[in-house]
Amino acid sequence: MAPLVKPALRRGWRDLNTVQFGMAPAHAMTLGPMDPATGSFLDLLNGTRGLPLLREEAHRMGLPDGHVDGLVTGLARAGLLDDAKGGGPAADALRGKKEVLDRLRPDLASLSLQTTGPGDAIGQLAARRSLRVQVRGAGRVGAILASLLAAAGVGEVDVRDVGEAEPWDVAPGGLPAESVGDRRDEAARRTARHWAPDRPPLRDRAAQSPAGDPGFSLVILAPRDDVDVHAPAPSTAEPLVSSGTPHLYAGVVEATGVVGPLVLPGETGCAGCLHEGRTDRDPAWPRLVAQWRSGSGRSRAVRACDVTLATTVAGLAAAHALAFLDGRVPTTAGARWEVSLPGLTWHARPVWGHPACPCGAAEKGKKGARAGEDGKPHETMKGQRSSKERREADAARPAGTWRAHV
Ligand SMILES: [Zn+2]
Repeated sequence: MAPLVKPALRRGWRDLNTVQFGMAPAHAMTLGPMDPATGSFLDLLNGTRGLPLLREEAHRMGLPDGHVDGLVTGLARAGLLDDAKGGGPAADALRGKKEVLDRLRPDLASLSLQTTGPGDAIGQLAARRSLRVQVRGAGRVGAILASLLAAAGVGEVDVRDVGEAEPWDVAPGGLPAESVGDRRDEAARRTARHWAPDRPPLRDRAAQSPAGDPGFSLVILAPRDDVDVHAPAPSTAEPLVSSGTPHLYAGVVEATGVVGPLVLPGETGCAGCLHEGRTDRDPAWPRLVAQWRSGSGRSRAVRACDVTLATTVAGLAAAHALAFLDGRVPTTAGARWEVSLPGLTWHARPVWGHPACPCGAAEKGKKGARAGEDGKPHETMKGQRSSKERREADAARPAGTWRAHV
């Protein structure tokens, strides 16, 4: 082990014997009491020394025997310690790819704030490389989303769509102007690769998965069609629900951006639940949806899609996707986040499991077991900590450490 105090957290002394790690309230923490000698010893915990060398240094500085081990254990339990050599074989492989890791350094630092154990952050970053995600829809939102996921280290980002890239698909981070006239899905895959050129080729990886099993950790539905964004068809997602594939919705309808719901089949409300719930509240809903779907003049017109709104939606959707892929349950599970121009205030609208929907989420909800609150890890959380364990870990913080209210 080569311990380092998480460099992502800025350090400051609140008084003579209390250190504050971090600035922003979400992750800031204070640790004390700490004497000045121990405080200056923290500078040696920078990932360049193993424990034996650190013990020698401590001895030279006149710190008592066992002090280093106690300090390292305490910092690790408080979630303040990383391990420059930890994270397992996949992390070691990632460290061997210097250019890749250099590009991902800010993301690694960010992950270190969301993980507790030494080496967890790089372990999680390395795990992203083995994930397969599919993005359906390569308009402005979908193409940017695919690029973001690739840039964040997701190993395989497959993009599906039809037709050719149009001038109005072009957006920074998404399809470039040169791609107009090219196949839309190919152009989006090429763009995603541009932002993360080091990933293994798609075909080789696909060949490794068992025949007939798409094996996607997550499917993101980012339709270019505004009706599909506003009123996602339950039939489209039915194969995903029945195969138990987690999927996330994102898109722009008129001047409203939508992120969610993230559907954990059988656990959180799906497109069918959304449709049934809306029909309960508004009996005219199915009639309206039918008209929108068959509406005249629907196919020709270029749909409204503000480029900054599309980018905002893609960014938030990608962040929710990553949170899920990293083993957490984001707030889009069972909810749609919506934002409208020009006010730009985000609202979450719950998508409850509906008893008339065959997905089974309503039954799950009845038991009071909302996703992420029953402590059961979801499919891609295997080997990672559930939210309950996380809470327990938080509760187990050693005395003298607490969240700083700054
Ligand atoms: Zn449902």
